Amino acid sequence: MLNKNTLKYLYQDLDELIRQYNTNQIDRFSFVSEVERLKQANKIILDGNEDFAELVENALLEKEYEIFEQMAKIALENAKAPSSPSRVLILTGAGISAESGVRTFRESDGLWEEYDVMEVCSVEGFERNPKLVADFYDARRRDIASKLPNAAHEMVARLKRKYPNQIDLLTQNVDDLFERAGCLDLIHLHGTLTDLRCEECQCVFEIGYKSQIGAICPACQSENIRHNVVMFGEEAPMYQKLQQSIDECDVFVVIGTSGQVLNVAWYTQWFEDSLLNNLDPDEHLDPYFKVVYHEKATDAAEKIEAYVEKFLSKCNL
Ligand SMILES: [Zn+2]
Repeated sequence: MLNKNTLKYLYQDLDELIRQYNTNQIDRFSFVSEVERLKQANKIILDGNEDFAELVENALLEKEYEIFEQMAKIALENAKAPSSPSRVLILTGAGISAESGVRTFRESDGLWEEYDVMEVCSVEGFERNPKLVADFYDARRRDIASKLPNAAHEMVARLKRKYPNQIDLLTQNVDDLFERAGCLDLIHLHGTLTDLRCEECQCVFEIGYKSQIGAICPACQSENIRHNVVMFGEEAPMYQKLQQSIDECDVFVVIGTSGQVLNVAWYTQWFEDSLLNNLDPDEHLDPYFKVVYHEKATDAAEKIEAYVEKFLSKCNL
């Protein structure tokens, strides 16, 4: 399995080693040992990669023939191996749910007018006033209870059902609108509003749209319960899954995110093709994407669906 990030780091490591050797910072013995170590550590990703073969050819020109001969052989032998089918990473943010009426922080009538984000969404705020934070998330649950998935949620859910193994769906949203559009196979990077978490045993359990006040852990009966949403100042464990999807997918589709929390512009370098759909233009974000739609996600939905189909349908021929 080709791991793009690991491969890039390997390139950098090799480049750096060659530079150090050529400038006499390391001796020949250290150079050979270190290249051998890299070869062993990266044996799996060396298989079947044409770019790597090219790097090796360049290394040969640097007169390190005997060092790279074996690596070149492996890479060239595998260069003709069939490539894996295209995979698409779809990443969504607040913009897609805002169209369903879910309140967000950054909209013009946004939550920030009512709340200080650092009081209700940060570790420090939670420590200062847990009741305020519990009330805040209760209000968020009440807010989403009456909201319905829109055409963009339904389009993404339809694609995910059609290509379950070729699409990774990751969302920054904590609402359950994809689930209600019929898509259960997705990753919530920042947690879920409709679940709670036990601070004693870390059990995550469903609460739906109810108040979390007085909730008790079904596993250990603890009353030490909190919202299941990642706060500022906390680790987001699902970011590991994001990294894995970036490694494994070839096409990047971003819907409704300003890129202020996740640096989606930076991620585009790892993809062969990319699409961005946001309501407003952003000169710091748009140039990184090959296809950009400035319109509502519900209006762009049909075009986004056709774009994803273009990559995935040919894999099924
Ligand atoms: Zn518990």
